[in-house]
Amino acid sequence: MFEVAIIGGGVAGLSAALQLGRTRRKTLVLDGGSPRNRHVSHSHGWLTRDGASPAELGALARQDIAAYPAVHYQQDSLAQVTGHNNAWELLTHKGAHYQAKRLVLALGIRDELLPIPGLQERLGQEVQFCPYCHAYEWQDQPLGSVSKSPHALMKAALLQDWTQDLTLWYQGDQLTPQEREALSQSGIKLREESVQSVTPGEAGLWIQTETERVWVKGLFTDPVAIHQSELVAQLGCALSPDGFVVVDPFQATSVPGVFAAGDMTTPMHALSVASASGTLAASAAHRSLVFDKT
Ligand SMILES: Cc1cc2nc3c(=O)[nH]c(=O)nc-3n(C[C@H](O)[C@H](O)[C@H](O)COP(=O)(O)OP(=O)(O)OC[C@H]3O[C@@H](n4cnc5c(N)ncnc54)[C@H](O)[C@@H]3O)c2cc1C
Repeated sequence: MFEVAIIGGGVAGLSAALQLGRTRRKTLVLDGGSPRNRHVSHSHGWLTRDGASPAELGALARQDIAAYPAVHYQQDSLAQVTGHNNAWELLTHKGAHYQAKRLVLALGIRDELLPIPGLQERLGQEVQFCPYCHAYEWQDQPLGSVSKSPHALMKAALLQDWTQDLTLWYQGDQLTPQEREALSQSGIKLREESVQSVTPGEAGLWIQTETERVWVKGLFTDPVAIHQSELVAQLGCALSPDGFVVVDPFQATSVPGVFAAGDMTTPMHALSVASASGTLAASAAHRSLVFDKT
């Protein structure tokens, strides 16, 4: 019997594992090994490792965890979970069975992109989601945003802090006259025809529509978050209207004995945020082992 099982070994899960390893409580990490940023060549905004590759960060993190004998890291993924607080039963895709008193979910999310040929292939290179993580490297160069999200206009306004040469290929619902006027005033170039493809070239990306071909240094887009709803449904955790697992300030879910951390619990997605929530979830799981004997 493990004291805590952490499901997911991205930055949230491994931050939880580090904290629990230091408590010496017997901890299992089950990791499918597909962190959300696996396509990215360089990761930014992580203090002391700004610009490191996600692969390097993952290897360093697993090295840190390996120093703690209480933590057992398994490259395997959870297929099914049953039970209750103090007695969770886990079945993995490789057919292993485990038991744990507490669970920390750190499953991350998956991204569904617009169905534009080339977009998925260039994700993490010339195609990115987060201005804070990737716009600095492209500052003062022609940039684009392709989106059908209701947040597209807000993101375009943010991107103007990094470039004055911004084209928004808007693929969403009809804009209001006021929104058009605001875009026109701001100098953002609005294009509403559909993007047919994106192709890398000349250290940037060519955006092809029916009528034009435009070069940008980088292109931002807004994915739809796909949640790991099956496992969460098996546990019965409460969800927010947009599908994130609802947690309290210490990352406890609505189900006793189940904590959650990382991208699956918040729409604010960054390594530092996921790490902090993993640390909190681990501390809360540890405290519940100490103080909640029921
Ligand atoms: C293109 C892109 C670029 C980004 N760039 C940056 C950046 O520069 N800086 C920054 O701070 N953030 C960046 N991010 C955001 C960052 O990657 C995420 O915030 C972070 O990875 C979230 O960590 P997590 O641990 O919650 O989830 P993940 O990192 O997604 O880890 C989840 C882990 O859980 C595992 N898992 C899933 N289901 C199971 C299961 N059933 N059983 C076992 N394991 C399972 C997965 O295989 C994976 O290893 C970027 C994201 C993307 C998509």
